[in-house]
Amino acid sequence: MIKNMKLINVYVEHSSMQLNQLFTYACPYPVSVGCRVKINFANREVVGFVEEVDVTSDCDRIKEVIEVLDTKPLLNMELMQLAQYISTRFVCNVISVYKTMLPPALKPSAHHAKIIYEEIIVAASSNESLTKKQEEVYQRLLPDLPMKASLFRKEAKSIAKALLEKGYVQIEKIPKTSKKRQLRYSDTHRSLTKEQQAAIEQISTSENSCFLLHGVTGSGKTEVFLQLAQDVLAQGKQVLFLVPEIGLTPMMIERVMARFGESIAIYHSQLNAQEKYEQYCLVRDQKVSIVVGTRSACFMPFSNLGLILMDEEHDASYKQDNMPRYHTRDVALFRAKYHQCKLVLASATPSLESYARAYKGVYELVELKYRIYEKMPKIKFINLKKETCTNGISTSLIQAMQACLERKEQIILLLNRRGYLPTVRCANCNEVFVCPDCGIALTYHKTEDLLMCHSCGNTYRFDHECPHCHSHQFYELGMGTEKLEEQVQSLFPQAKIIRMDADSTRKKNAHARLLESFETSGDILIGTQMVAKGLDFPRVTLVGILQADQSLLHSEYRSCEMAYQMLEQASGRSGRGRKEGNVLIQTYDPDHYVMQCVLHHDYLSFFKKEMAYRHLGLYPPYVYLCTIIYSHSELPKALQVAKMTKTYLQTVQVLGPVEISMRNQKKRVRLVIKAKSEQFLEDLVWDLVSYHKKMKTNVKQDINMYPLGLEE
Ligand code: ADP
Ligand code: ZN
Ligand code: ZN
Repeated sequence: MIKNMKLINVYVEHSSMQLNQLFTYACPYPVSVGCRVKINFANREVVGFVEEVDVTSDCDRIKEVIEVLDTKPLLNMELMQLAQYISTRFVCNVISVYKTMLPPALKPSAHHAKIIYEEIIVAASSNESLTKKQEEVYQRLLPDLPMKASLFRKEAKSIAKALLEKGYVQIEKIPKTSKKRQLRYSDTHRSLTKEQQAAIEQISTSENSCFLLHGVTGSGKTEVFLQLAQDVLAQGKQVLFLVPEIGLTPMMIERVMARFGESIAIYHSQLNAQEKYEQYCLVRDQKVSIVVGTRSACFMPFSNLGLILMDEEHDASYKQDNMPRYHTRDVALFRAKYHQCKLVLASATPSLESYARAYKGVYELVELKYRIYEKMPKIKFINLKKETCTNGISTSLIQAMQACLERKEQIILLLNRRGYLPTVRCANCNEVFVCPDCGIALTYHKTEDLLMCHSCGNTYRFDHECPHCHSHQFYELGMGTEKLEEQVQSLFPQAKIIRMDADSTRKKNAHARLLESFETSGDILIGTQMVAKGLDFPRVTLVGILQADQSLLHSEYRSCEMAYQMLEQASGRSGRGRKEGNVLIQTYDPDHYVMQCVLHHDYLSFFKKEMAYRHLGLYPPYVYLCTIIYSHSELPKALQVAKMTKTYLQTVQVLGPVEISMRNQKKRVRLVIKAKSEQFLEDLVWDLVSYHKKMKTNVKQDINMYPLGLEE
């Protein structure tokens, strides 16, 4: 029986599966590469992804496919090649990449999201004769087809059935569509500045394909994007516009829609499965030619891509922090090469990797050195060694806020810590509440009145009583955005305060709503690093940064880079309109080179200094990193495997093993591999995968290629 049947090779979604192993099945139905099939694997019905067709096999016990799930391939050749590339580069399963690439409704897994369809009526042709009444209704409704079936039945009443039966119209099922977006602004046409024009000219006429647009905050990068996009759209090609998760999205969507109308697709993590599928189909069926989206939008099924724009290219949200741990920039580079189109990476504070490449000429550097309207904002440090604070806010900052509010201008306050109290410590016995799964201090969230672990996200009830000594007194040490909001409100009872952090933006569209309410009637915006990203409010003339040293204190090799980026970006929100901006930074260490470079808005000096340190310590971009984490409920087991692996890796520099914080009640031990070339590192880590498999241990090995931080 099998003899006459075609054999296919599929990837199977199964946890105990060998990495990237293909399995052969017989398929009695027509099927093509890129389709999903239902198969029996290890006595379970699972979904397989067809990778090859018309294969041969010596095996005589081949199972049959149960069902073919798709008539058309879900992925085209480009995306399948891209998946192979990601798998190789980031050392992960191809099938896990497929799962990430596809919208939830199409995922190659048995539990993919279900899509709701609705019926519409479309015109068809028929030779049947119609009565006069039927003819009349038919002619009246024809211009409005296709229309919703419910509406059609309401309009055609008793005639609906006849028209359907006689074949003049027919029913089609399409995925239910969501409401149209409301456009709040109209586009303001601007003549470009000389600098903007020069940048556009440079990018459009260059032979190069990858550019780093380094423009200071408020230099008008968005306008450059929109102009470049317009030229590409005019050639009938598609544009992909990537923004960081999710802070910037509402503002950018508004601007892009104001310019290009509503026919754009929008793709980000707050969409539900139905909406994602809808946006995905818009791109696949070529109904839109511009996509604005966050990380996952880099996998949209383009057919004719003409330009990729990646705004705030340094942003950490571009790297996915679970499997597959890909970086969006690498995907963008791959796709730009495939479509032979240009890629513009943009930032006021580029990642060291990207700037180093631009410095060497691998990317073409394009610069915008001046703000559109005013000078760069004036930075002032408040030295916390000298000035006292009440509840974390210095007198100078309070005075500046007072003055700003009197001038009817707006304020942004940045405190990069959410919640109310970062640690809850008993005032009697000193006991600290810690997460039982991760072993780190729990944060008290006042609004919800509970304790939350900022590592795993678990929450716990808080009875306001110490479980050890039953005291009801707790220290009020430190503060998060919730407490800051409370303090500021008591200082300025009249002010309208908006708080923006992961807690206040959890609900869908909350982001857009908060920003809108700040823009129209807010006085003070308080938030975590979210408020540092991309916001463009011309009436903001004061930015206050509390606990600015906090990010410098991490033990990460990248902490200075992240601190510089956050401080410079946050400062960049001040004075973007026609009024000069001020920035007050509360710090214990105003002489630190990060602070000094922020003071002078001097990215280049920062870059050179930081590169010198990276060179000394042998960190990226001088070497390529991979972190490997071993986890087990017993520490010695994890340590033992890590040590054996280190011994195995004799040819390369390995740091560790060191114990790091627990996760899911598992002890964790980390190795860091430093390698001189990407190829070498990838080969090595793939070899490690087989080595680990051969060990047959129940210690879990978790690989993170090219991590942005060691603690990630
Ligand atoms: P960036 O992204 O570089 O920080 P934006 O693109 O947000 O800067 O631009 C800063 C501000 O300047 C925005 O409010 C924008 O509308 C305005 N702007 C940009 N280009 C021009 C121009 N050519 N003429 C007038 N205003 C402009
Ligand atoms: Zn106690
Ligand atoms: Zn936890």
